Amino acid sequence: VSAEAAFPEILGQAHAEALLRAAIHGGRLGQSYLFSGPDGVGKTLLARNIAAGVLCSGKGQKPCGECHDCRMMLTDRHPDFSLLEPEGSSRAIKIDQVRDLIGYLALRPVQGEHRVAVLRDADRMREEASNAILKTLEEPPGFALLILTSSRPRALLPTIRSRCQEVRFGLLALDQVHEALSRAGYEPDDDQRAAAFLSGGSVGQAVQILESDALAAYAELAPRILALPDEDAFDISDDLISWLKKAGTTLEPQRDRFRQFLDVLCRTYSHAMRSNISFSLPKPPAGLPVSRLLRIVEALWNARRQTDSNAALDLIIQNLLERVALLQKPVAAV
Ligand SMILES: [Zn+2]
Repeated sequence: VSAEAAFPEILGQAHAEALLRAAIHGGRLGQSYLFSGPDGVGKTLLARNIAAGVLCSGKGQKPCGECHDCRMMLTDRHPDFSLLEPEGSSRAIKIDQVRDLIGYLALRPVQGEHRVAVLRDADRMREEASNAILKTLEEPPGFALLILTSSRPRALLPTIRSRCQEVRFGLLALDQVHEALSRAGYEPDDDQRAAAFLSGGSVGQAVQILESDALAAYAELAPRILALPDEDAFDISDDLISWLKKAGTTLEPQRDRFRQFLDVLCRTYSHAMRSNISFSLPKPPAGLPVSRLLRIVEALWNARRQTDSNAALDLIIQNLLERVALLQKPVAAV
């Protein structure tokens, strides 16, 4: 395996990558980082690559992809690398997981000079877990490198953020999402094009769209929402809720799916305000002024905020559909 194939460049995040690679090669890598940015844009992937670079025992460019350490990283068996992710239906990071991680980072490296831990979606830590990790961030062992990732950095304790060097990740351009999907083995067909567009610049979200029944649900539900008030808002609401419930029996996976659906709708409406697009999207009623489209997008944002604040999904959906139906009435009627 060549190093490039083993630890590929993260598309669209050249700035973050260059910064960190320079730090590795110049021996100026810090001990605590926060990779912040949207879901699915390569934060965890780059954290793994940085870990591989730090742990690599090869000469020259790191990670080399060939040394003992690199091979162990590639097969997920490196004793000095640990990845912690939210677990279970609550999607929370549990205090026991964090204690294990702290214990792990306190032990001397097995192979070389470093121990690396990645704490994915660190904003999923509750208070107790956050306070526990804070102590490690205040006095990390000299050999430890801790990388937190988060798509909601503002949900982290300010004291945690201030202890980390923050590296910001952005959304990818549409052609970068296409390229990443093609590299990952997805055929460049209509589904791939639709998923890339609807992902809004997140490869992770595009993959989720392709791997779930999201495209089919979108194709079924979106045109009906866009045809309101000529469609029945209650029927749409029922069908939408039953699709959300297929995501899982607990609330959090249903909320995640709803957020994604709102994002996708938002992009559809935003696109209705512009002209050229390479494949067909459902459209809102013809002749709807931009000011109305903007108010619909605003209503979608409101629904997303309410979803984050734990309001009941069926109420959010009913309110949203009523609002959209009203705003899509012929102009003279409002
Ligand atoms: Zn190596």
